[in-house]
Amino acid sequence: MREVISFDMDGTLVSSRFVDLVWMEGMPRLYAERHGLDFPAAKEMVIGEYMKVGSDRLEWYDMQYWMDRFDLRMKKEDLLDIYSDEIQLFPEVEEALEALSGFDLVVTSNAAREFIEVELGSLMDWFDHVFSATSDFRDVKKSSSVYRRVCRDLGRSPVEVLHIGDHYVYDYEAPLEAGLDALFLDRKGNRSGSEVVGDLREAADLILNS
Ligand SMILES: [Mg+2]
Repeated sequence: MREVISFDMDGTLVSSRFVDLVWMEGMPRLYAERHGLDFPAAKEMVIGEYMKVGSDRLEWYDMQYWMDRFDLRMKKEDLLDIYSDEIQLFPEVEEALEALSGFDLVVTSNAAREFIEVELGSLMDWFDHVFSATSDFRDVKKSSSVYRRVCRDLGRSPVEVLHIGDHYVYDYEAPLEAGLDALFLDRKGNRSGSEVVGDLREAADLILNS
């Protein structure tokens, strides 16, 4: 019997625009000011440093690491705050959460906790638990082991949990491998299949009618 619905965050509940702005515009802008470069040169420098670390290391996701590495004298909360007006929930999110409110709702994201809290804002109230793969499990990707940990922490068997997200490997294949149910959210409509949905309203309908 299904009891829990787990949601990815970026690209699923919230558009990726905010995260992109923080890393690709905010961080380079601070670097430019601090080190006296123009913005394009600073951006090239900053992205070069990101690439040296790479997304397989935890530091990639860690704002404080980058602010220290670049010697930026701003609090990470203040940088997030600059772009907070750019946080965009997808339009059907609240309606879908309302429709699914009979289930326990959780978030399973690979974003660092500081991003999750800012991006979800008041939406946090909908969720019983929020899991950050990087902050809570020290895992850089949402592997099947992350989903097993989520189930264990919730005290649920994997068959009681369904995960929805917009990354085919990390939000669909990985939870299936861990024994959960999963729906692949394809907002661009590139894939089709019985477990592919175009938005969260469609996901809610599928879950409630299955
Ligand atoms: Mg995503």
